[in-house]
Amino acid sequence: MNELITHSAAELAAKLAAKEVSAVEVVQAHLDRIAEVDGEVNAFLHVNTEEALAVATEVDTARAAGGAEAGRLHGLAGVPIAIKDLIVTIGQPTTAGSAMLRGWMSPYDATVIQKIRAAKMPMLGKTNLDEFAMGSSTEHSAYGPTRNPWDLDRIPGGSGGGSAAAVAAYEAPLALGTDTGGSIRQPAAVTGSVGVKPTYGGVSRYGAIAMASSLDQIGPVSRTVLDSALLHEVIGGHDPADSTSLTDPVGALAEAARTGNVAGMRIGVVRELQGEGYDAGVQQRFDESLELLRGAGAEIVEVSCPNFKYALGAYYLIMPSEASSNLAKFDGVRYGLRVLPEDAPLTIERVMGASRAAGFGDEVKRRIILGTYALSAGYYDAYYGSAQKVRTLVQRDFDAAFAQADVLISPTAPTTAFKLGEKLDDPLAMYLNDVATIPANLAGVPGISVPGGLAGGLPVGIQFLAPAREDARLYRAGAALEKLLEDKWGGPLLAQAPVLGGVK
Ligand code: GLN
Repeated sequence: MNELITHSAAELAAKLAAKEVSAVEVVQAHLDRIAEVDGEVNAFLHVNTEEALAVATEVDTARAAGGAEAGRLHGLAGVPIAIKDLIVTIGQPTTAGSAMLRGWMSPYDATVIQKIRAAKMPMLGKTNLDEFAMGSSTEHSAYGPTRNPWDLDRIPGGSGGGSAAAVAAYEAPLALGTDTGGSIRQPAAVTGSVGVKPTYGGVSRYGAIAMASSLDQIGPVSRTVLDSALLHEVIGGHDPADSTSLTDPVGALAEAARTGNVAGMRIGVVRELQGEGYDAGVQQRFDESLELLRGAGAEIVEVSCPNFKYALGAYYLIMPSEASSNLAKFDGVRYGLRVLPEDAPLTIERVMGASRAAGFGDEVKRRIILGTYALSAGYYDAYYGSAQKVRTLVQRDFDAAFAQADVLISPTAPTTAFKLGEKLDDPLAMYLNDVATIPANLAGVPGISVPGGLAGGLPVGIQFLAPAREDARLYRAGAALEKLLEDKWGGPLLAQAPVLGGVK
């Protein structure tokens, strides 16, 4: 094992700038790590070897030239990144974890990919996910499950289990995920990594294959809070190609992460996001984090968000409704899989039916049926309409809570990583993993998950939530907790991981 893979993105950036290492060496170390462990982890659906090395070579050439050319390099130039395979990329297949898009090549780059290219960050490849980002375990991928590097018999969370596992297994220092109901934060929590769902509209969704457009958000995954902030600054900002993109800049996020501090900060404990349904071990780590934050000068207050108990129900009407509409474009006609019915007549409806029957997995079909039903005449008001009203109530709960607190805090997920297969046949049990993460998506507010320690030898995540556009507060609070905990542990949580024989 090459020790280069143990460094954070910020450390690698510093080493590259000081010419202590070349970008080619950094990329090669990560490609070697992928070759070494990904047969077991299955975080990657595609490894982008040639292009990653070519971009690294460009960075090294520019740096060697010195002068203006070197000066133009972005701070993260040469630092490699993995991309959730829901985000479209020229030159690498984009599958969305679905047989529907097996081998599909996008004719355009997502806005976040354009930004990563502009920063000359070598893309290591595309990471595994639950099909069309529907799931909490990455078991709904058409390409086999990803495994949790802490315990290969356990799930890495979902839908972005590939991105989180890649980062936790030191296959990549950084990754991009998407979070519609928790798919960045919950995988980060159960793999001991950091994940951020930015404010809705803070990062362009252009080129993220849409699951539920009013909830989807692209965001960073990393091993440190600072690294997520650095990546967030690369991908954030206004994009005219996304009609829901915010016009103001994302703020000084890395600075907030560097000066992490909770002295005088009012931290609201959400009464409804703990207790029943949360593992005792998770609750213990959560309570310890609260004590540390209090000791560092935070003012801990209790807030109540009574409508959060309806959030999961509302989400599982709104999300499938939007998904049923967004996934209508996979019709076997325009692109992707086309299956011709075996018998006549060869009508367009029958081609669509055969293609969708073969191309979509069970969970995707379940949600399309649910969404189509919720939107149908006669049921629209009772289901979709009511869910939208609950969404407004959840937003009001947040408004009231943020009048009392600068940030809110909760466990990110109610349990640690469960065994592969354990919840696969029980959709409701699977959906419950997102109770604590979903309210943020319904309200459009940002959230972060930071490692909070171990329960039963498995990582627990602590979530902070902030008001819309106040993403900087997440980094300030998250970095403060990270430091308090690392001082206690004597180093990062992932350094304790039995990550496939250890990386130390
Ligand atoms: N696990 C949630 C779901 O299945 C969240 C998915 C996501 O955020 N993409 O819908």
